[in-house]
Amino acid sequence: MVGMQVQYPDQTRAKWEAMAADQDIMCEFYRRGYGDWHDTARQIIDQVCAEKHNLYLWPFLRMPKLRRWYSRTGNVLLLGDAAHAIPPSSGQGVNQALEDVDALVLLLKNSRDLLGALHTWQTLRQARIDAVFDWATNSTNVQRLPEAERNRLIKEGKVKDPRATENFDDMSWLYKFNLEKEIAHLTKAEAHA
Ligand SMILES: Cc1cc2nc3c(=O)[nH]c(=O)nc-3n(C[C@H](O)[C@H](O)[C@H](O)COP(=O)(O)OP(=O)(O)OC[C@H]3O[C@@H](n4cnc5c(N)ncnc54)[C@H](O)[C@@H]3O)c2cc1C
Repeated sequence: MVGMQVQYPDQTRAKWEAMAADQDIMCEFYRRGYGDWHDTARQIIDQVCAEKHNLYLWPFLRMPKLRRWYSRTGNVLLLGDAAHAIPPSSGQGVNQALEDVDALVLLLKNSRDLLGALHTWQTLRQARIDAVFDWATNSTNVQRLPEAERNRLIKEGKVKDPRATENFDDMSWLYKFNLEKEIAHLTKAEAHA
């Protein structure tokens, strides 16, 4: 399988909808870089564009941060995508939903103060989501760009250069996350605040 990811200028929702209804625009987009591909890929592109009514546009929409993930009483709460949808390119949506549950269970188990526990939970989880979002936007997405486009965007200051960060490919912060330790750290800091 081959794939290509490019940066597309932000659009209003109305413009995305107009584009999604226009198969010619989608086909034009799909054919970008046609001359750079091998014959096999070109044939696929030709065939897809010959059936362009099958083309489908699926923009990444950014979800604004929610002020609170739980109701005033704490009896209703949001988690997973409902609280913090992140770009699918991160490959982290399900993982983060599971971490939400894990953290919630640990905090509720050790607390008699429901709203206090939910506050700590959201603080902890939002920081984690922010880190994943930042990594997906500024590292994964940028690394997947064609080299010339990546260099241009870095030069224009529109994206960060992931390789400029020391140990940029060290993913232990994501995959070796110690939830118990983070909870202990945060509850201690909150107790001293
Ligand atoms: C293209 C793509 C690729 C992805 N790749 C990855 C990946 O590689 N790794 C990864 O971890 N994540 C990935 N994700 C993200 C992942 O799918 C989501 O983050 C995850 O499914 C979120 O789980 P959730 O339970 O919060 O929400 P959902 O899975 O959306 O579950 C919500 C459920 O609620 C139901 N529902 C909605 N409204 C109502 C209603 N009114 N009444 C009753 N039910 C309702 C919906 O039908 C749905 O079943 C990807 C997402 C996309 C779109």
